[in-house]
Amino acid sequence: MTSDMSRPVTDTILNFIGGVYRRGSDGKTFANVNPATGQHIGLVHEASKADVDAAVAAAKTALNGPWGRMTTAERIKLITAVAAEIERRSEDFLEAEVADTGKPRHVASHIDIPRGAANFRMFADVIATMPTESFATDTPDGGRALNYVARKPKGVIAVICPWNFPLLLMTWKVGPALACGNTVVVKPSEETPRTAALLGEVMNAVGMPEGVYNVVHGFGAGSAGEFLTSNKDVDAITFTGETGTGQAIMQKAAIGVRDVSFELGGKNPAIVFADADLDKVVEGLSRSVFLNTGQVCLGTERVYVERPLFDEFIRRMTMAAQAFKPGAAGDPAYLGPLISAEHQEKVLGYYAKAVAEGATVVTGGGVPEIDGAQGGGFYVEPTLWTGLAHDSTVMREEIFGPCCGVIPFDAEDEAVALANDTEYGLCATVWTENLSRAHRVAAEMRVGVCWVNCWFLRDLRTAFGGSGQSGIGREGGVHSLEFYTEIQNICVKL
Ligand code: NAD
Repeated sequence: MTSDMSRPVTDTILNFIGGVYRRGSDGKTFANVNPATGQHIGLVHEASKADVDAAVAAAKTALNGPWGRMTTAERIKLITAVAAEIERRSEDFLEAEVADTGKPRHVASHIDIPRGAANFRMFADVIATMPTESFATDTPDGGRALNYVARKPKGVIAVICPWNFPLLLMTWKVGPALACGNTVVVKPSEETPRTAALLGEVMNAVGMPEGVYNVVHGFGAGSAGEFLTSNKDVDAITFTGETGTGQAIMQKAAIGVRDVSFELGGKNPAIVFADADLDKVVEGLSRSVFLNTGQVCLGTERVYVERPLFDEFIRRMTMAAQAFKPGAAGDPAYLGPLISAEHQEKVLGYYAKAVAEGATVVTGGGVPEIDGAQGGGFYVEPTLWTGLAHDSTVMREEIFGPCCGVIPFDAEDEAVALANDTEYGLCATVWTENLSRAHRVAAEMRVGVCWVNCWFLRDLRTAFGGSGQSGIGREGGVHSLEFYTEIQNICVKL
């Protein structure tokens, strides 16, 4: 293979296959757009089916090469070096992430990029201290046998990612996959290809063997995403994205009975009791509703507030919503754009639907007026609704924008029933100063993650994932080992 370009993160964004940056073999490209301005800022080289097959072949070859022969200690050293190199080049990653997403620099510099490094460091630690299981077993002849578990890499892992936290969500999967000795082919979102491409430079800089980390750019159906999930040499697929896409991927995974790990959509509720500390609630929920312009899978889109607190909650949340400044890049109160014109249209469709379904628009509900360079960006106003029925479309479907509907309740069991009345089950938040109620209600929530008096407080050792249509499986800490390793039980007659 020969290299087409020495650097991926300029206006030319390339595939990374077998340790080398490459254009798409059939010459196709697509535009990379900065959503903060609507400007085309780069050209992404789309992987053809042949390119995707080459990436999978490179990953398969690497399993049997130096990577496959490495000791755990050698692998840990390399993975730790990846974390350090991301930290060393954090400015480059920051530029790349902000260019692709338009998100505020302080969000990317506090959340996306440090978590990108932490995801490698943490799984290097997990693998270093990985426990195993063993049983001393009685045998029929009065003797003994020893059963023990060996964990082996699963093989070539396809990693398919969304655009809301591109580096963070991708490394959340690549970190444990590599720590467990697998190799990966990453298909980043077509909206946010830059940080995945840049990570190739990091891999080469630390001396990662070629083929361990590969990146193919493109779309879903009929493009790189589907080419990847259809390739029979992919041993397992880990995916974060929409529930509908998960269903399409599952059909492909059925061929060859391959394992999947899915982190999907949500319609996450918050329950606010009248005894809650309102300062904490408003601080937490204004982040939960508006952070990253609502483009957070864990974000809150349904809020149930106990009636005595309702009016004051609305007054305070309205002030919080109005303090954000869409389009004011560089301002500490900057609210970034939505990821694309298409997503903006989708969110505005829900804004119109809310009104049609009888909502009172407490604040927002439209497109802000923005002058200057940001004028072409895909901004919407932070929005609060009251008066929506619990079973309205806007209260049932995931919007993925900076908005939520607020509904009053009178009794604890009513609030629990409303919160649980969804086909999703990713996360919930419960706000109360009553300790017994906090534990009782948290346990009642049918979700993978429940936060009490906080939100998005993550310890990477904990199990993360959703129930219902929000996902399959859990990742995080030792839970990731369940997906990224194949367990073999060995029984030795003594
Ligand atoms: P998406 O499902 O549209 O796309 C995700 C990825 O899948 C992209 O890389 C896309 O190109 C690829 N893809 C699309 N169709 C495909 C196909 N048929 N075969 C293979 N790949 C295909 O999701 P998105 O719009 O990028 O992200 C937003 C969604 O992600 C929201 O629903 C959000 O809730 C969810 N999300 C979930 C979590 C979580 O942890 N549960 C985290 C972040 C985002």
